[in-house]
Amino acid sequence: MKTTRAIDTFVEETGGWVASQLEACTRCGICAEACHFYQATGNPDFAPVWKVELLKRAYEQEFTLGGKLRTMLHLQKKVDEADLEAWSKLVYEACTVCNKCAMVCPMGIQLGPIIHDVRAGLAEAGMVPDDLAAAVNKQIEEGSPLGVTDDVFESRLEWIADDWEIDLPVDKEGADTLVIFSSIEIMKFPDNLAHIASILNAAGENWTLSSKAREVVNFGFYEGSADHTRLLLSRVFDGAVELGVKKIVVTECGHAYDALRWTAPNLMDVPDIEITHIAAVLGEYVESGRITLKAGAYDGDGKITFHDACKIQRRGGHIEEPRKLLSILAPESFTEMTPNREQAICCGGGGGVIAIKEADPIRYKAFELKIAQAEAVGAETVVMACSNCRLQFLDGAEHFDWDMKFRGLAEMVAEAME
Ligand code: SF4
Ligand code: SF4
Repeated sequence: MKTTRAIDTFVEETGGWVASQLEACTRCGICAEACHFYQATGNPDFAPVWKVELLKRAYEQEFTLGGKLRTMLHLQKKVDEADLEAWSKLVYEACTVCNKCAMVCPMGIQLGPIIHDVRAGLAEAGMVPDDLAAAVNKQIEEGSPLGVTDDVFESRLEWIADDWEIDLPVDKEGADTLVIFSSIEIMKFPDNLAHIASILNAAGENWTLSSKAREVVNFGFYEGSADHTRLLLSRVFDGAVELGVKKIVVTECGHAYDALRWTAPNLMDVPDIEITHIAAVLGEYVESGRITLKAGAYDGDGKITFHDACKIQRRGGHIEEPRKLLSILAPESFTEMTPNREQAICCGGGGGVIAIKEADPIRYKAFELKIAQAEAVGAETVVMACSNCRLQFLDGAEHFDWDMKFRGLAEMVAEAME
């Protein structure tokens, strides 16, 4: 039954585009070296091409003569529940859906989205790892994977407004811009709310938070379930439409930005509202003179490097804005890790991996690559624009007893405003 549900979903997903991508693979294996989980462990099962093998096999067995013959002659076994279990571990625990592998594939195969399709089949079959499934259910039932209920949201905002002496408008009529934070920021990095609010207020933005669209994370998207992704997206869009805003600003959350900006139009009717990321907004404010920064504010604090988040920089294209900001804030001490920009490797905690306890050993293994990259340039501070990455860096630093400072891009901008 589980297998049938998974295969039905795979069949639905393998429309013309996916089929042509699967057919195009020459099995050269180049993608393996691009994957941080393979790089960190050398385990061939973690090669991106192997992670899509389940979908490829199901596609061949359903649609191609060769695949049908191979199963008929028992040269290849039919996809079964044991395969679903094995691939569940591979695509949820050993893949952050970062799509770095697609950057190197000579055939231009978009492995990340295809791995997402494998997750879709597994989600349909109920083969999502328990921790991730629990977070999805919590978000559906309570409105948040981290417990940001109506009451918690209200009390957190009151506390932040009081403690940081900052104006945090909620459900403001006539606002142009809706700003939506992730639950990680609300619960673990509340100072980010205060910092971003201070920047928006200084720039004279007519903005608001929403009590309905309280947080932007989308655990349905991590899980791969189209229905759950749509449900959680619709909560955000409904809140935005109700307020009549013209723009939505996603704060420091990469996967939510991907879900809202690029995945949503492929899943549902979306309102005509501009969607952007706070990294782009910060760049715009500085460029247009709406805020000014103290030049060199962070020079003298040791070397500073920037971690590119897969969904904000590689996927979102907001590669130059953080660099322009850091070249003002720390012209002497800003230094690049290698590789960087769209070629950067993932922190290892994206795609829901950080939420899965069983994934901890390989998540830490992958994180060792980031430690090596930051140390290679002598960095003393790593800056980033994604709170999920920041959580991974903090947790990884604690695990390895790594002496390093981590800062959010918005926090640095807020503290350096003239
Ligand atoms: S790099 Fe592309 S063509 Fe080569 S094995 Fe990977 S997916 Fe297939
Ligand atoms: S999407 Fe990222 S984590 Fe997943 S296989 Fe490709 S490189 Fe590895």
